[in-house]
Amino acid sequence: MSAPELITITVDGRPVQVPKGTGLVEAAAAAGIEIPVFCYEPRIGSAVGACRMCLVEIEGMPKLQTGCTTPARDGMVVHTARTSETAAQGQNATIEFLLLNHPLDCPVCDKGGECPLQDLSFRYGPGKTRMTFRKRSLEKPIPISPTIALDRERCILCYRCTRFSQEVAEDEELVAVNRGALTMIATFEDEPYRGPFSGNIVELCPVGALTSTQYRFLARPWEYERAASVCGLCAIGCNITVQSREGRVQRVLSRNHPEVDRGWLCDKGRFSSPHLYAEERIDSPRRYRDGAEEELGWDEALAELESLIGEAQGEVVLALSGTETLEVAYSLAAIVRRGARSDGVVLPEPALDALDPYRVPLSALAAAEEIVVFEESPVLERAPVVDLWLKLARRNGARLTTIGPAGEIQRAPGDAARACRELAGETSELGQRLRKAERVILIWSGRGGAGGAHLAVLARALGLHEKDGSGALYLPSTPNPRGVAEAWEAAADEPSHQPEQIGLLLVSGDEAANDPAIRKLAERAHRAVALTLFAGDTASWADLVLPATSYLEGEGTMRNLEGRLQRLRRAAAAPIRPELSWLAELGERLGVALPASVTGVFAELSAKALDDISFSSLGDRAPLPARTKPGPVEAPEPEAPPAVRGGPLELIRYRALFSGPVVEHVPQLAFQRPLPEVEISAEDADRRAIADGDEVVVRSTGISVRLRARINAALRPGSVRIAAEHCSELAPGVQVSRP
Ligand code: SF4
Ligand code: SF4
Repeated sequence: MSAPELITITVDGRPVQVPKGTGLVEAAAAAGIEIPVFCYEPRIGSAVGACRMCLVEIEGMPKLQTGCTTPARDGMVVHTARTSETAAQGQNATIEFLLLNHPLDCPVCDKGGECPLQDLSFRYGPGKTRMTFRKRSLEKPIPISPTIALDRERCILCYRCTRFSQEVAEDEELVAVNRGALTMIATFEDEPYRGPFSGNIVELCPVGALTSTQYRFLARPWEYERAASVCGLCAIGCNITVQSREGRVQRVLSRNHPEVDRGWLCDKGRFSSPHLYAEERIDSPRRYRDGAEEELGWDEALAELESLIGEAQGEVVLALSGTETLEVAYSLAAIVRRGARSDGVVLPEPALDALDPYRVPLSALAAAEEIVVFEESPVLERAPVVDLWLKLARRNGARLTTIGPAGEIQRAPGDAARACRELAGETSELGQRLRKAERVILIWSGRGGAGGAHLAVLARALGLHEKDGSGALYLPSTPNPRGVAEAWEAAADEPSHQPEQIGLLLVSGDEAANDPAIRKLAERAHRAVALTLFAGDTASWADLVLPATSYLEGEGTMRNLEGRLQRLRRAAAAPIRPELSWLAELGERLGVALPASVTGVFAELSAKALDDISFSSLGDRAPLPARTKPGPVEAPEPEAPPAVRGGPLELIRYRALFSGPVVEHVPQLAFQRPLPEVEISAEDADRRAIADGDEVVVRSTGISVRLRARINAALRPGSVRIAAEHCSELAPGVQVSRP
């Protein structure tokens, strides 16, 4: 791309060079001068000039102009309120007008102390009011969803929230109703705002009109302690600021990493902190024997675990969730590999390093020309912020092709590998476009297995390692599968031993503890130990349950889906003993020297697998590691998916975003959980005389569930799609009929 043409303008007497087309707000910022704004926010699309706060005087123009909507032109001479009495008067009048009906209830408003309207009123406003009439009073607060409340009196009609809904999340749930002075923000038909990104509007609102029901009236902004951390609930690892008061997390805000999340969070990441204080959380070790539960002290629990490991005589298997930090995974792996001398492990995903030569930041999606998504699990459910990047890419002109059971190119469930291989060798129109385009990004959101390797074969065939801004991304279904696999490898020791049976199954994390495949292993195991946040039904299969910490309570690192090594910071006091502390003590009992601190474990791990980087060198915004050199990729020859028995329709099961152990313990998120519905193609619905919204019975051998039918015109005939929590017992082949 050629360098942009530069122009020169003067702001308050300071000349500055900026690329042609730059808005005056940015041009003034480049000169070190602030033009105040309320409605302007470049991440939500082009400027609309709604609030008039950015008025400036431009020489040669008879009236004041809005800085946000006026592009800088060569030779322009601009005066802000600093040097222009007219601009200062304009801004003063704007503030006075905005405050006409604003309640000025700052002492009880949640935005007080961090409110742009409060701040700019002090700096640019009239100082006292000339109005003597009563201000407008409206019903409040309006619950626009269980997580967000709207106080219409405070709204200054900047339209940031509606623009986010319409132009970023594209959910069209939020609208402005009525006209003129009666304009109000509302949800469509007054239905709750039910969208996975709704919480972003609370952060965008420049006044206290939109507030989070989770932290209303809990604290003032200056009382918070802030931890610059990372969300641990999916593999994106959005950068977050966790704010706590007296050791208790009160809210989670975005901490814009422009290459990873662009300052957006999904509602799962934003509103999940109440899981820390759920009643079902366990805070001490428990032993289950002969149907009785016994609470143990840590000494007893570690003695019990030591003896269970001893009894297993090397037949120990570790099942990891992919939610652990690298450090916790490393210490657990060291206990199993060096302490129990076992190489038995169940990892959440297979090795993912085949895509390292095609590394690309998520932000590259915004400039991509062609994007191909191999999609079996909806991207939104697996890695929600990637969905926002894809929407931005499409708005920027990228051609987006989805391949899968509900894609533009329809393929059977489980057939993505063959589609990928065909594209690598073929000369279809899409294949030719991908070869010609300069910036191509491939995304895998399908079944695990060798998906990353198949994608690497295609990326290599397209020569993506030689094209800047091109690359390939694998969307895992757990937050840190790459990191825990690295930790497991690094903890290896000689001699190795593959257990032939399972004497002891050590299950780490609630996700693994709730995974039906791991539960089957637990049934086969002689003894089982679970390390979880919530007891759930572990009593029915575990001999010993140890309490775990949450991603908001510990220091550590996670590797996100792009490959960044990101740092988590402790934001809340854990009610329990941290894993690294008791694992070090257990190690001592087993003759394995393990540090008890995160820096110590990281140093050991780093010396073995991370090029000896130091923990303190991990900054607040992790960089993307350099690409590796592409080599030959070992990918199994893709086969046609096996025929599904048991029914004419193939069941596609996906893990919904708002599901899993953390979400289940946040009551305010219950309304976001997947509806009990089955997606069915128009053709299959027609054949069975099923209409959209009908109640239907979905059956497989011996099991049936009642769900609502949702006709998905994009879905391939022969398949139905259901969120895993509504079909856990169903076999892969199902019948669907009216009751
Ligand atoms: S509710 Fe907030 S973000 Fe929405 S228009 Fe009003 S002031 Fe702006
Ligand atoms: S997109 Fe993923 S990492 Fe980001 S806030 Fe949501 S769950 Fe957390």
